[in-house]
Amino acid sequence: MGTIDDYKYQRDVMVDTQLIPRGISDKRVLDTMRTIPRHLFVPKDYAHSAYNDMALPIGEGQTISQPYMVAVMTEKLALTPECKVLEIGTGSGYQTAVLASLVKEVYTIERIESLSKKAEQILKSLGFKNIHFIVGDGSLGYPDAKPYDRVIITAGAPAIPQPIKEQLAEGGIIVAPVGDRYSQTLVVVRKTKEGFSTEYSTGCVFVPLVGRHGWVS
Ligand code: SAM
Repeated sequence: MGTIDDYKYQRDVMVDTQLIPRGISDKRVLDTMRTIPRHLFVPKDYAHSAYNDMALPIGEGQTISQPYMVAVMTEKLALTPECKVLEIGTGSGYQTAVLASLVKEVYTIERIESLSKKAEQILKSLGFKNIHFIVGDGSLGYPDAKPYDRVIITAGAPAIPQPIKEQLAEGGIIVAPVGDRYSQTLVVVRKTKEGFSTEYSTGCVFVPLVGRHGWVS
């Protein structure tokens, strides 16, 4: 990490033309997205498109999220370096890399084993040591390591799963796309002593959260 590679220029263009003009202003998020080699997280045939303003296929019918969506969700999490984060939907591992660069510890759950293994291999080869990889139904959360300071769901959910609300620490934040199967709204949920508050953000389109507290398949 931190070495100059052939894609450094494309990463800077991505940040300067896709993220900053749309209002992303958290310097830690912007600096991180200037360094994570996104082209390593997509299939080789798509490497040349890795920094384009779009989601891309990663196999198994799943996608790596659009860079802007990764940036918005990360910014809305308001991460601090001490945070313990639960991520539902490892996918390619790109969002995981962004999170793990900004916080102490990340627990990431993926239901498709081959994607989890591929992401683990890339992230370990990049030197990340603060990520725990779990294969399973993330709609149940991951009670073994609760409570979490932040939770990010990177697949579209019909509602925020109840177990995930329960596993969130007081003062914690959940960011998730919530809606129907084909279109959602990014939702930011905050847990306080008094209960939960919800803020609605941008519209978005994610692959479905499939599981006990998600969609059937
Ligand atoms: N953030 C990822 C990235 O940067 O590549 C993209 C994630 S992709 C949009 C959503 C992922 O959520 C898919 O890999 C999908 O298999 C996974 N997923 C869907 N339902 C899940 C569940 N119940 N538990 C864990 N992962 C799930």
